[in-house]
Amino acid sequence: MMTINEKMSAVKMATEEMTTQEMMAEIARLKIEKNALILAHNYQIGDVQDVADIVGDSYMLSKYAQTTDKDVIVFCGVHFMAESAKILNPSKKILLPALDAGCPMADMITGEEIKKFKEANPGVPVVAYVNTSAEVKAYTDICCTSSNAVNVVKSLGAKKILFLPDRNLGHFIAAQIPETEIVLWDGFCITHERVEEEDVIEMKVKHPGVKLLIHPECNPLIVKHADFAGSTSQIIDFVKNSEDEEFIIGTEAGILHTLGKIAPNKKCHLLSKCLVCQNMKKTTLAHVLDALRYDQHEIIVDEEVRLLAEKSLIRMLEVNV
Ligand code: 13P
Ligand code: SF4
Repeated sequence: MMTINEKMSAVKMATEEMTTQEMMAEIARLKIEKNALILAHNYQIGDVQDVADIVGDSYMLSKYAQTTDKDVIVFCGVHFMAESAKILNPSKKILLPALDAGCPMADMITGEEIKKFKEANPGVPVVAYVNTSAEVKAYTDICCTSSNAVNVVKSLGAKKILFLPDRNLGHFIAAQIPETEIVLWDGFCITHERVEEEDVIEMKVKHPGVKLLIHPECNPLIVKHADFAGSTSQIIDFVKNSEDEEFIIGTEAGILHTLGKIAPNKKCHLLSKCLVCQNMKKTTLAHVLDALRYDQHEIIVDEEVRLLAEKSLIRMLEVNV
C-alpha cells in the first residue's frame, strides 16, 4: 500500500478528491517546497489552525509577517490582515486563500470618508484600528489592535483624537483614558455586536462564579460585565495563566479550538452561539492547499498607498502591547 506522500507524487490529486489527512500532508510538503509560512488567526476553523505555523491575534500575526524570512506567507484570516502583511513586508508573496474573506467592519469606512472626517477635525491625530483598508490606513497617524489600543492612544499624549472605525473599541479606550477626548467613527463588528445583555445574564446564572472574558469589540453594555477584556491572544493567556478551571468566553467561536489545545483541562463556554464570524469561517483546508498549489490569491498594494500605510503600522509596532 502506498504512503500518502507516494500517492501525491505518483499523481497530483484534485483537491476536491482528497481526504483531510491527504490535504494536510500535501500542505506540509508544499510549505517546505515553496518556503512558505502559514499564519492563522485565532478565529479560523480547527483544521486550518492545525496546519498553521503560527496561530495568534492580529498584533502577533503582524509581527510574524513583518519579520519572517520565508518567501511566501499564506494568511488564513481576512483581507485586511493579509494586506497589512504585504504593507509590512512588501518583498514577500502574500496569499489570501479565500479571496472573499473580508471584514464588514473594515468596509464601514472608505478613503473618501476618512478624508472628510479629518477635514472636519483639522489637526487632530487619527488612530485607526487595523481592521481598515490600506487606503484608510494611509490617512492615519498610527494604527492599533485590540491588544495595544490603550497604549497606542496613551503614547500620543493628545488631548483629543479621532478613532475609527470601531466605536466599541473606542469606548473601551475612552473608559481607560478619560483625560483624552475621543471622537468616534460609528463602525462596529457585526459578530461581536450581536451579543446581548440577556446572554450575559443567562450564562452567569448557568455558570455561577465563572469568570467572563470579553473582547472589546463587544458593546460597552457587555464589556462592563467582564472580569477581563482583551484581544483574542490576551484572552487565551488569561485562561492559560489563571488558576480557575472554567470560563465564559465572549469572542468568536474559533478561539475555543485554540483554547482546547492550549488549556485542554479547562472548560470554556461560548457566551453566545451568535459569536460566529462568517468571513473568518470562509477559509478551508482546500483553500489553503490551493493557495500553495496555485499561488492564489496574491495581495497587491499600490506602492504610494503602501508607503503611507506602512508608517502608521510601524509606528504602532513600536508601542508596547
Ligand atoms: P484580535 O485577534 O486582534 O483580538 O482581533 C479580533 C478580530 O476581530 C479580528 O478581526
Ligand atoms: Fe471583522 Fe468582526 Fe469578523 Fe473580526 S470578527 S473579521 S472584526 S466581522
